[in-house]
Amino acid sequence: NGPVGGMEYPMICFNGPRPQADGTYSAQTKYGLISVVIHEVGHNYYPMIVNSDERQWTWMDEGLNTFLQYLAEQEWEKNYPSRRGEPANIADYMSSEEQVPIMTNSESLLQFGNNGYAKPATALNILRETVLGRENFDFAFKQYAQRWKFKRPMPADFFRTMEDASGVDLDWFWRGWFYTTDHTDISIENVRLFQLSSQNPDVEKELQRKQAAAAPLTLSRQRNENIPKRIDKYPSLKDFYNDYDRFKVTDAERSEYQTFVAGLSENEKQILNAGYNFYFVDLKNLGGLVMPVIFRVEYVDGTTEEIRIPAEIWRYNNFDVSKMIVTKKEVKAFVLDPRLETADTDLANNFFPRRTVPTRFELYKNAQQQQQQQRRRPQ
Ligand SMILES: [Zn+2]
Repeated sequence: NGPVGGMEYPMICFNGPRPQADGTYSAQTKYGLISVVIHEVGHNYYPMIVNSDERQWTWMDEGLNTFLQYLAEQEWEKNYPSRRGEPANIADYMSSEEQVPIMTNSESLLQFGNNGYAKPATALNILRETVLGRENFDFAFKQYAQRWKFKRPMPADFFRTMEDASGVDLDWFWRGWFYTTDHTDISIENVRLFQLSSQNPDVEKELQRKQAAAAPLTLSRQRNENIPKRIDKYPSLKDFYNDYDRFKVTDAERSEYQTFVAGLSENEKQILNAGYNFYFVDLKNLGGLVMPVIFRVEYVDGTTEEIRIPAEIWRYNNFDVSKMIVTKKEVKAFVLDPRLETADTDLANNFFPRRTVPTRFELYKNAQQQQQQQRRRPQ
């Protein structure tokens, strides 16, 4: 089979992995052979039938074919150990230094396997799962194959077909994933909570009393607390204000509130009494890649909710954006990309409040193993 794991030709292919002489074989040999057969047979379609220029644009056959290889592998058995396709597997490459955009001539690629195979395959998987949805993506992808079979598509033909068949503007996606080396790293920088004042003095002043009681005792106040006081020595210095409770509601305040409420419409009264929490989640795009924002909101009552915001949230500002989340419940934590679908390279800043991510060392080890395996890559 020569120096490579596999090689495609029209109507025939060669595939490297073999059992030992005694008929036994390792898991790596087994899955390596299944995967390479899927891959090389897949080349009958890309680029043999949808005849892109593989000398110019490696990704147009290898990337699309590796993406389809991933889909076929996942139909082989549950939890098939696919090497390429899962977003988390591409994160280390995406943030690495030595790389060029996918839209680079084949002769000039750096990290050939990651650039021409893994990154476009993962990009298409993300486009399918997270951006377009399976149904819309599959329709558009089939349209591309139908329109361009036995023809010579160029990159723009693929980009345009995916856009007009899906009916979705994907310029931002092609620009980021195919024309730059930016990576996904969105961070939750801060969360700010706003609550609507009820303006009811019986509610608000009680709240102020609790806040005052909960305020930290400063060092000076602590030390001054027990020093002898002049008004204790001369009690005649005391007046009304020494025993006055500043949080006690006055009749004037109550009647002012009643006048205020009487002037509200029914709808306004409902909003005033609904007890909404307004959370402003401040996001920063550290990696440069514009991506949808996916939150898991964990509430204090133990329930969770997933909120999916399309990439258009970044349309006015690529780097900083705040998302308001309105809820009657109290939030315990926000988690970004909880199901690892965006290839986010730094998971530590995906949590608010921050959490330690104990798997970082392990992820790094996996990436090393992948680089070793890559030397035996199929073509
Ligand atoms: Zn190939």
